Amino acid sequence: MAHWPPIRKDARILRVHPNLADYESERAAFTWESARAMLSGLPGGGLNIAHEAVGRHAAGPLADHDALRFVGSDGTIRALTYRQISELAARFAGVLRGLGVGRGERVFSLAGRIPELYAAVLGTLMAGSVFCPLFSAFGPDPVRQRLQLGEGRVLVTTRAQYRKKVAALRANLPELRHVLLVDADGAPEPGTLDLAELMRAAEPVEGPAPTRPEDPALLHFTSGTTGTPKGAVHVHEAVVAHWATGRYALDLHPEDVYWCTADPGWVTGTSYGIIAPLVHGVTVVVDEEELEADRWYGILGQQRVSVWYTAPTALRMLMKAGAERAAGHDLSALRFVASVGEPLNPEVVLWGQEALGLPVHDNWWQTETGGIMIANYAAMDIRPGSMGKPLPGVDAAIVLRGPDERPVRQDGVVVLAEPGVVGELALRPGWPSMFRGYLNEDERYRKCFAGGWYLSGDLATRDEEGYFWFVGRGDDVIKSSGHLIGPFEVESTLMEHPAVAEAGVIGVPDPVAGEAVKAFVELRAGWQPADQLRLELIGFARKRLGAAVAPRSLDFVDALPHTRSGKVLRRLLKARELGLPEGDTSTLEERS
Ligand code: ATP
Ligand code: MG
Repeated sequence: MAHWPPIRKDARILRVHPNLADYESERAAFTWESARAMLSGLPGGGLNIAHEAVGRHAAGPLADHDALRFVGSDGTIRALTYRQISELAARFAGVLRGLGVGRGERVFSLAGRIPELYAAVLGTLMAGSVFCPLFSAFGPDPVRQRLQLGEGRVLVTTRAQYRKKVAALRANLPELRHVLLVDADGAPEPGTLDLAELMRAAEPVEGPAPTRPEDPALLHFTSGTTGTPKGAVHVHEAVVAHWATGRYALDLHPEDVYWCTADPGWVTGTSYGIIAPLVHGVTVVVDEEELEADRWYGILGQQRVSVWYTAPTALRMLMKAGAERAAGHDLSALRFVASVGEPLNPEVVLWGQEALGLPVHDNWWQTETGGIMIANYAAMDIRPGSMGKPLPGVDAAIVLRGPDERPVRQDGVVVLAEPGVVGELALRPGWPSMFRGYLNEDERYRKCFAGGWYLSGDLATRDEEGYFWFVGRGDDVIKSSGHLIGPFEVESTLMEHPAVAEAGVIGVPDPVAGEAVKAFVELRAGWQPADQLRLELIGFARKRLGAAVAPRSLDFVDALPHTRSGKVLRRLLKARELGLPEGDTSTLEERS
């Protein structure tokens, strides 16, 4: 396998939070047991996520502290204290008990970021049932697929969602016993129950169900970037990792106002939009609306957000809108921005530093890992373009699955100890938020492990100082004239040109090179597609990357296809380019 040139080794190193240097000694002493000891737990070694997130705070000094602050479309704020959200959750758990929904049975949601959704997540966990959030913009087909695969027993949704996406499918969903409408308002809808009425009548549960650390808690479907989404099963023990990563990667403290822009329909919106911040007793801002630059700057300023967790695509969108949009908003409370879901282009990190005066910390993890694994964590120097280093308790390596020219151990996995070599990013199993299976897909689950490692399917490299650098998803990497080309490097280079807002790079068949690099480019405001600009961009990339790696061809697009969780769907660019079937597009964002 080819050696990967270190990416932008000359890049400026940004120093953040010198006041957090004392974290280093704490990190050195870290073990998962020590993290577990920071939680309250249940008698007899039990553990319950909802108890750690809200129950224990409701009984302590944070009871009257704002837990959730919902910002409505008109800017009105509805706040819930830890005591209030805990009571709502206990009531929801009482509703489930009243309906005879048992431990381990699955409760789905299909709703926007409304308070009822948060009560349902926490109430389900409190009851010992399993929660599975669906993204509210899913169409009827993806909804049915996931409800069927997950054998959803209960669905919490709105009347409009129910009518549009579920009512006609009820006959195909025999497992679905109860549909709870959040907005029934006393007007009956056939086949559904009025959640508000049930909540009023319910007997709140007295405390969390006596769940064990290994009891299933959450079911999360992956983003479907590479194909059909998989249902990853997570257990209550995951909360130990949510605590640790909330501390080391996100640096959360009760006085923080924290905003995670991910929808709870994805693992980020649950692990880091609900669980991790509440476990740390912070105030969580929830925006009920969609991504829009002025609104976002407005919320950051007005709510005095101190830690902001978002995604590269959102940051690129802000870049595209222009830094002047930030003017007039007081971002002085904001300590740093963290980003996850996709490679974070160095250009975006530098933009954050220059335009917002803020460090942007990259985080790498997956639905399967349940929590952040590698990060430019709060107390360390950032290397723009690098994902950072493994978090405390995480053992990560760059490996090769055989066959390879080196002697391969019988299990077929070789650890590449030397720096600067590309291989698959692997993790040593045993961290608490690790998925415990893909629902009904044992074989697919087993294939994720070899030689005592969990194999992520992503390619990466590590430098001499232990920073990890993302190269590409295994399936996206381009092989051209014997070179192994990661789309991320080419996309990031294109983004250094002032005209480029976002880029997606794929390999297309080439009779000589095997594959040739092709780029799709979305322009920034004020730039028009033109042949001259196309040539300029190709030349620009050539000068930086060399002819072998730079795109051979380049198309301008109005919008790149994204998953709803914000990832560039390169497999769709490729299918469209080659006139092949588009495959599973259930997670495709509408504007694409
Ligand atoms: P599917 O598994 O269904 O194809 P997916 O892998 O996109 O979809 P997720 O679990 O939501 O589903 O995303 C995890 C993947 O996102 C990672 O494997 C990686 O490819 C990418 N990713 C996440 N964070 C980063 C990051 N900081 N840098 C680079 N890539 C990232
Ligand atoms: Mg994946």
